[in-house]
Amino acid sequence: MENLTESKNFIENIIDEDLENGRFDHVQTRFPPEPNGYLHIGHAKSILLNYGLAKKYGGSFNMRFDDTNPTKEKEEFVESILEDIKWLGADWEDRLFFASDYFSQMYEAAVSLIKKGLAYVCDLNADEIREYRGTLTEPGKNSPYRDRSVEENLKLFQEMKEGKYKDGEKVLRAKIDMSSPNINMRDPIIYRVAHISHHRTKDEWCIYPMYDFAHPIEDAIEGITHSICTLEFEDHRPLYDWVVEHTEFASKPRQIEFAKLYLTNVVTGKRYIKQLVENKIVDGWDDPRLVSIAALRRRGFTPESIKMFVELCGVSKSNSSVDYAMLEYCIREDLKGKSPRVMAVLDPIKLIIDNYPEDKEEYFEVVNNPENEEMGTRKVCFGRELYIEREDFMEEPPKKYFRLFPGNEVRLMNAYFVKCESFEKDENGNVTVVHCTYDPETRSGSGFTGRKVKGTIHWVNAKKCVNATVNLYENIVDEEKGKLNEDGTLNLNPNSLQITPNCKIEESINTASLSDRYQFVRNGYFCLDPKESELSDGKFVFNRIVSLKSSFKLPK
Ligand code: ATP
Ligand code: MG
Repeated sequence: MENLTESKNFIENIIDEDLENGRFDHVQTRFPPEPNGYLHIGHAKSILLNYGLAKKYGGSFNMRFDDTNPTKEKEEFVESILEDIKWLGADWEDRLFFASDYFSQMYEAAVSLIKKGLAYVCDLNADEIREYRGTLTEPGKNSPYRDRSVEENLKLFQEMKEGKYKDGEKVLRAKIDMSSPNINMRDPIIYRVAHISHHRTKDEWCIYPMYDFAHPIEDAIEGITHSICTLEFEDHRPLYDWVVEHTEFASKPRQIEFAKLYLTNVVTGKRYIKQLVENKIVDGWDDPRLVSIAALRRRGFTPESIKMFVELCGVSKSNSSVDYAMLEYCIREDLKGKSPRVMAVLDPIKLIIDNYPEDKEEYFEVVNNPENEEMGTRKVCFGRELYIEREDFMEEPPKKYFRLFPGNEVRLMNAYFVKCESFEKDENGNVTVVHCTYDPETRSGSGFTGRKVKGTIHWVNAKKCVNATVNLYENIVDEEKGKLNEDGTLNLNPNSLQITPNCKIEESINTASLSDRYQFVRNGYFCLDPKESELSDGKFVFNRIVSLKSSFKLPK
C-alpha cells in the first residue's frame, strides 16, 4: 500500500508546478455536490481526493452545496450529504457554503459582463437557440438579439430579475463566438428565468444562473485554487476560464478534470436506484446492496476501507471501471486485524454428544483474533448439545469431504474431537440431529498428539446462544450476464438478498453494539443492521459485509 500512495498523481504534479512557478502560493479545494440525491462511492472518490489534496499541501477544504438549480434540489439531501461526508472523515471545519448565498454576487457579475458588452439578453426560445447553435461540423449563427445596446440589456436583465417575464421567454447569454469550434463557447446561456421557489432563498429570485457561469464564480468567491471536477467538463474548461477572466474576482481558480470512478456489478445511476426504491426491490437508498455511502455504511463498510479503495483506484484521465471485488478486498484488509472472531452458525442442525454428561458445562479460553494478540481472549461455553452448520454434515459424502459423516471424526473448533455415530431425519428426509461421541483426551490446548483429523468445524452451544437473523448478499446485477434486459430494465440477480432467520451465535455477541464488526468464523464479516435490529428487545439482525473468500488479486 505504502509505495502505491507515495507516487504522485497527475493532479499533484500540476499543483507542484503551480506552487513552484507562483501561480498559487497555497492549496484550497472544495467538494461541490448538488443536493439532488444521495452520495455514492464515486462521490467518495471526489471527496477524499479533494480533502486529501488539501491536507497533503497544508491547505484547506471547503464543503459547498452547488444549489443553483431549484427544480431538483431538496433540503433532505443537504442533511444526508453532510452526514456522509463527516462519516468519511473529510473535515470542512467552519467552511460550509451554499452557492445560493452568492446569488447577488453572481447577478452583479452578470451585470458587469453586460456593461463590458460581453453579455446580452436573448429572446430566442429553446428550440431556436439550439438551431442557431450549429453543430460539431457547422458554425452557429448570431442571434438577432446579439447586438442590443448595453442600456437595453441592463434594463431587460433587471426586468428578468423583477419577474416581468415568463420561464423561457428571455435568457441572458455570454457574448463569445458563435463560430467557435467548441460549442460550449457559442454564446452559452448564463441566466434563465425560472419561477420556482428555492429550498433556501425561497421566492427571492426568479432567475437562476447556469452551472457553467455559477461554478467558476463560486470557486473564485471562495478562493479555490484547484477546482477538481470530472472529465465530462473538460470541454467546458474554456468557458470556465472565460468566466474567471471576465468577471472581476480577485482569485483566479483553475479547473482540473479527472476520470469518474465506475464500479462493475453495481447500480449507481440515480434513475435506476429510484426505480428500485419505488418498486420496493430495495429497502430505500441505503439498502446494503447499493453503493450509496449510506448503503455502504449500513452494510458495515468502514471509512478506512473506502479510503483504501479510493487510493488503490488512483486518479487518472481516462475512464475505466473497477470491479466490486476490489472494494471487498479493501474491507477484508481493514477488518482482519481489528474485528473479533466469534462462532456463529447460519444454517443450524443439532449435534448431540451422547457420551458427554447432560448437565456438564466447560469453558474454553478462546483468542479473539489470532492476527492481533492485543484483542485478548474470551470464554466460550461447551456442552452436550450444540449447533453446527447443516453443510458440515453429509450422509453420503463426496470424495475429499473431510467434515462430519457417519463414522468420521473431526475437531470441534477450540474444543474436542467428535466422531459421528448416527443421525436422525424428519419426515421430509432432512437431517435434524447428528449424534456423536467425543474423546476427552483431545481437548484443544491439551497437547494431544495421538491422532489427527482432517476437518475442523465450528459450533455454538445450543443452550447458551443468541438467535439472530442474518442477511447475506450477492451483487444486485451481474455485468457478465448483462446488466440490462432487452427492454432497458435492470437484469436483477434474484439471489441478491438471502435472509436466514434462524442463526445461532455464541453468547458473547450479547454485548454487541451497532458500531461493532465481527468475523463469524468461516462465514465472513458481519455487522448489526442499524435499521432492523432492536438490541433492547434482543432482536439481532446481522448483515454480511463480505465473505472470507476472494477471487480478487491486488494488481502488481
Ligand atoms: P448529477 O450531476 O447527474 O446530478 P453527479 O453525480 O455529477 O450527478 P454532483 O452533485 O454534481 O452529482 O457531483 C458532485 C461532485 O462529485 C462533482 O464534482 C462530480 O464531478 C463528482 N462525481 C460525481 N460522480 C463521480 C464519480 N463517479 N467519480 C468521481 N467523482 C464523481
Ligand atoms: Mg453533476
